[in-house]
Amino acid sequence: MPQAPLGDWLNDFVTLFYPEWCAACHLPLVKGESLLCTGCKMTLPETKFHLDPDNHVARHFYGRVQLQGATALYFFRKGSRVQTMIHHLKYHDRPEIGVAIGQYYGYQLLQAAPYDTVDCIIPVPLHPKKEHKRGYNQAAQFARGLSLAMEKPYYKKYLIRKSFTATQTRKSRIERWQNVGEVFSLHQPRLLEGKHILLVDDVVTTGATLEACAQKLLQIPGVEVSVATIATAFTF
Ligand SMILES: [Zn+2]
Repeated sequence: MPQAPLGDWLNDFVTLFYPEWCAACHLPLVKGESLLCTGCKMTLPETKFHLDPDNHVARHFYGRVQLQGATALYFFRKGSRVQTMIHHLKYHDRPEIGVAIGQYYGYQLLQAAPYDTVDCIIPVPLHPKKEHKRGYNQAAQFARGLSLAMEKPYYKKYLIRKSFTATQTRKSRIERWQNVGEVFSLHQPRLLEGKHILLVDDVVTTGATLEACAQKLLQIPGVEVSVATIATAFTF
């Protein structure tokens, strides 16, 4: 009987005791699968919005902020496998999910205008305390995957989320929402002049944060902004 290479043998052995599960449906993964099972890979609800410039996410921003394009990879519904996957990415210490999705989507975005002219990728910054607690920013992991596939740099340090002071935290929700535009600041904006920036986040829900970040970036001379998220929670 031919002997399996030690690596395979070890891998099977480890899998026997620590099986890997599909990040979306929790079925055990079989050999050759990583992160998602083949069933989920083929059936998760992709929007294909990057092929439709007049899609629902793009339309949401019309009249609010000038974007070159806006898209999301998946539809997000409560109780769905997409929600499970994003939950793992955010709360179960699975940053690699963000990277893998970013790589997968990056190859698709390279094929479609205006995303094919992006110069760099910037994730929506997480509150510093949250990032410290979680150990990573899930949007930055998505940006890292996109960066690998699109062969464009991603930057975490140029768009910054200011820390709230105690008094700001006590403000009402509406006041905080109105303040969202003042939450972000730029670092060394001259380095981004004239760039087409792909601004990315995990899920677009109200769009307020992405809008505030895009407005901030658009203060830089010559900058153009497009938006991409893992999923859209807009109801249609
Ligand atoms: Zn699955």
